[in-house]
Amino acid sequence: MSILLTTLNARYTHASLGLRYLLANMGELQEQTRIQEFVIGAKATEIVERILSYAPTIVGFGIYIWNVEETTKVIAMLKRVAPQVVVVLGGPEVSHETNEQEVVKLADYVITGWGDVTFPKLCGEILHGPKPLMKVHAGVQPPMAEIKLPYSLYTDDDIKNRTLYVEASRGCPFKCEFCLSALDKTAWPFALDSFLAEMESLYQRGARLFKFVDRTFNLNIKTSLKIMQFFLDKLEANPDDPVYAHFELVPDHLPDALKEGISKFPPGALQFEIGIQSFNPEVQTLVSRRQDNQKAADNIRWLTTQSHAHMHVDLIAGLPGETVESFAEGFNKLWALAPHEIQFGILKRLRGTPIIRHTQEYGMVYDPYAPYTILANRDIDFATMQRLVRFARYWDLVANSGRFGHTLPVLLGEQPFQRFMAFADWLYANTDATHRIALERLVAMVSRYLQTLGMGQADADALLASDYSGGAKARPAAEATPAPKRQARRLAA
Ligand code: SF4
Repeated sequence: MSILLTTLNARYTHASLGLRYLLANMGELQEQTRIQEFVIGAKATEIVERILSYAPTIVGFGIYIWNVEETTKVIAMLKRVAPQVVVVLGGPEVSHETNEQEVVKLADYVITGWGDVTFPKLCGEILHGPKPLMKVHAGVQPPMAEIKLPYSLYTDDDIKNRTLYVEASRGCPFKCEFCLSALDKTAWPFALDSFLAEMESLYQRGARLFKFVDRTFNLNIKTSLKIMQFFLDKLEANPDDPVYAHFELVPDHLPDALKEGISKFPPGALQFEIGIQSFNPEVQTLVSRRQDNQKAADNIRWLTTQSHAHMHVDLIAGLPGETVESFAEGFNKLWALAPHEIQFGILKRLRGTPIIRHTQEYGMVYDPYAPYTILANRDIDFATMQRLVRFARYWDLVANSGRFGHTLPVLLGEQPFQRFMAFADWLYANTDATHRIALERLVAMVSRYLQTLGMGQADADALLASDYSGGAKARPAAEATPAPKRQARRLAA
C-alpha cells in the first residue's frame, strides 16, 4: 500500500466525503490507496503510529478549519519520525493564503481547490516520476461528468453508524463575503440520474439519513423537486422504516411547486438549515448578501406553520456594521417566526474570503488562530463580543438542546435577546463557566435565576419539572402564542 488518505473529522459520526471522492477518482492507483480517518482530540502519537502502520509512501491530509491546529502537530511529528513519507495537503483551509501557513511549511506538496484529478496525477508523478517541481499545485476543475461519484465507498459500518454526506451540486452562485463559497463562480450540478442511482443504491444498502452538503438546495427547483420525490417515494413505500433528509436552503426562494413538495413530507423526515445571517439591510449590502427579508420571513413562517420540516436557522453576530442593537432586533424577529432552532454563530474570517476588505474601516479584529473568530470590531468591543460568545454557548445548552421547552418562553418573555443576554451574564457571573455545566446544575441555576426575576421557588421548580415530564421534547411548529414553546431536539448529527 503506497498512498494513505487521512483527515481528522470533527466527530466520529462525520464520515469524510472529501476523502471518498479522492479514493473514487484515483484511477489505476486506487488499488494501492486506503482511507484512515481520525477524530479531533485523538493523541498525535497514536495518530502517527497508526498512519505509519500502513507503511505509506504518500500521506494525503484533508485540512479544514476545525483540524488545522491538530493536524499541524501530527504532521510535525510524522515528519520527525518518518521524514521519507511524502506529505500532500488539500482542503479548503490550505487553498487560500497558502504559503504563510505553518502546516504548509511542514508539507511536501499542497493542492489548492479541487483535488479530484490533480491529486491522483500528483501521486503518479511522486511515485513514478518525473518528480513534481512545484510545491503548490492549483487543483484542476474537471467537467462534472468526469468526476466519479464516491458513494459506493461508504462501508456498511458507515451506513449503519455515521452521517452520510451527499452532494447533488458543488459551489454557489451567491457572493456573501464571509463565506468560502463566495469564491465559486457558480454552482455546478452532478448528472441527476447518476446521482439518484447512487442514492438508490445507498438506500438499498440500508442508508436512512442523508445529509446534503449542497450550498443551496433550492437553486434549481426542477432538480430539488426530483430529489424530494425520490425521498417521498421511499417514505410512501416504506413508512415504517422512514428515510430522513437534511438540506440547506436560501430563505427567499420557495416557489409554490417546492412548497407543495415540502408539505407532503411527514413529521421527522425533513430538516432544513436556512441562513438568514442578518436581517439588517445595511449589513447585507456591506457583505454583498442578496436577500429579500420580507420573502425570507414569509417563507420561514410558511415552513413553520404549513410543513413538518425541522427548521434550523442561522444568524451571525460580528458582521461589519452590525451593532448589538441591530443584531438583537434581527434575533427577536427571527424568534417570532418560531424556527425550531436558532443557530447563533460568531463571525469567523475564513481564509480567502472577501470580507477582509472591511477590516480597516470596520475595525475588524480576528483571532489569529483557527477558527479565526472575530474578537472585536468598530461597533462591538472585545468584552461585549465575549458576552455574545457566551450567549451563543448558553443558547445551545438551554434553547437548542430542547431541554427547557416549557421554561424557555418564561425566561425570554417579550424580549428574547435582551432577556437571554441578561440570563447569560448572570449565569456566567455565578458559575464562571461556559462548558462542563452538568444538566442538574444548569437546572438549579435556571431555577435560581427565575427566582431573581420574582418567581417563587416552588413555581420555578414546578416549571422546570414540567420539562422533564416528556412534554417539552418536541415543539409543535409555530404556536399561536407570541412566546411559543420551542426548540425540539436537534434531529441530525
Ligand atoms: S452564505 Fe450561502 S448563499 Fe451566501 S455564498 Fe455562502 S453558500 Fe452561498
